[in-house]
Amino acid sequence: MPTINPVKGTHDIIADEADVYSYIESVFAKEAESFGYRHIVTPVLEHTEVFDRATGEGSDVVRKEMYTFLDKAERSVTLRPEGTAGVMRSIMTNKLYATPDMPLKYYYSGTTYRYERPQLGRYREFRQIGVECVGEDSVYLDAETVALAARTLQKLGFKDLRLKINTLGDKASRENYKEALRAFFATRIDQMCPDCHERLRLNPLRILDCKVPEDHALVADAPKMKDYLSPESLERYQKTLDLLRLLDIPFEEDDTLVRGLDYYGEIVFEVHCISPEGNDYGAICGGGHYEGILTNFGGPKEIDVGVGFAMGVERVYALMKEFGLIGGLASTLDIYLMPLGEEAIRPAYELGDTLRGLGYSALVPYKPGKLGAYFKKAERKGARYAIIFGETELQNGFVQVKDLTKQQQEEVNLKELPDYLAAHLR
Ligand code: ATP
Ligand code: MG
Repeated sequence: MPTINPVKGTHDIIADEADVYSYIESVFAKEAESFGYRHIVTPVLEHTEVFDRATGEGSDVVRKEMYTFLDKAERSVTLRPEGTAGVMRSIMTNKLYATPDMPLKYYYSGTTYRYERPQLGRYREFRQIGVECVGEDSVYLDAETVALAARTLQKLGFKDLRLKINTLGDKASRENYKEALRAFFATRIDQMCPDCHERLRLNPLRILDCKVPEDHALVADAPKMKDYLSPESLERYQKTLDLLRLLDIPFEEDDTLVRGLDYYGEIVFEVHCISPEGNDYGAICGGGHYEGILTNFGGPKEIDVGVGFAMGVERVYALMKEFGLIGGLASTLDIYLMPLGEEAIRPAYELGDTLRGLGYSALVPYKPGKLGAYFKKAERKGARYAIIFGETELQNGFVQVKDLTKQQQEEVNLKELPDYLAAHLR
């Protein structure tokens, strides 16, 4: 029978690699909690409307990347392409806004689905970690959110990151700027990609985000946002940058940065990083300030403001690997038990359980084997210690304990084994 391939753009994450994925998520969770965020888990599957309302029709995600299908009752459902929309839906469903304690701060992690062309750093099923902070409008929160992204990546060991920042201004500034872009690109659109034709119509800002190299050259001469910013937006932007300087977070300003989703305004940011081998996996993180999503869900206007980001776990992992940041993160085996002879298997089985109860990881063979074979297996499993015994030794209350790194062996009284292991393994 032919083997079955995984669905295009999906991938298996196995053993050591899966350990690093869990590690990334746990470092992020801890960091987010240290900023007062709480965990939220929303469904992968939502009514398609959730994304239509939240994401904006001009975004690439909603226009062509969504996994949308009819369920058996002919309802249109979608596998989430990003995390924000589900959190907004949940804030409404559960009336999370009915609290005097603004802002609401939630962090999430989970799989997301986008029908994209798979390539380096680009999958159809991938994992995102991210935060949403909703209900209070403050430059402090904006800067804090950028800081959380930066601190998470620093905790993961990254040093050479490029944090790019831009402002999209308030609504009026943005509308003026869009007009200027429309006028500018109207005469050049014939030379641009088909997607940009669509963007010109729906949201000309998105042209600045085009990844087609020939279009990039045209974008360089386009009008600049900063020439259309209101004094308030400019001041807000400068305050945010000042707070980042205060926290010692390096950044660079990039006036072509617009982000893919339509609801962003004021501060937007992305984190990029070129690997030691020169690979560009694209942005590892993107986010910014947004307004007007909650009211699309019927939410109260007074709290319809937020800031958030999402980070791509696959891209973070790929870069950590290339930077040599994943050594020692895989789970290890503490003890390999080596019963000599059939009769020693049963007591080994019991000892294994006792050791696990003490908090160690322990493997027990289910068939008796030769010492040489045991040692080979223990080495392949990366075990740190071996405990060797036959039935007679057990009856006399002794085992041999071998430090497999130092290759040193000692006889240890069974009663003293817990203390011995605590002294040597912890
Ligand atoms: P890109 O510009 O690379 O398409 P995006 O702007 O569409 O990214 P966001 O919607 O901001 O991405 O998603 C947040 C993060 O999720 C990105 O910064 C990236 O790290 C990751 N990401 C986005 N799309 C993919 C994908 N297809 N495969 C893997 N990771 C992805
Ligand atoms: Mg994209």
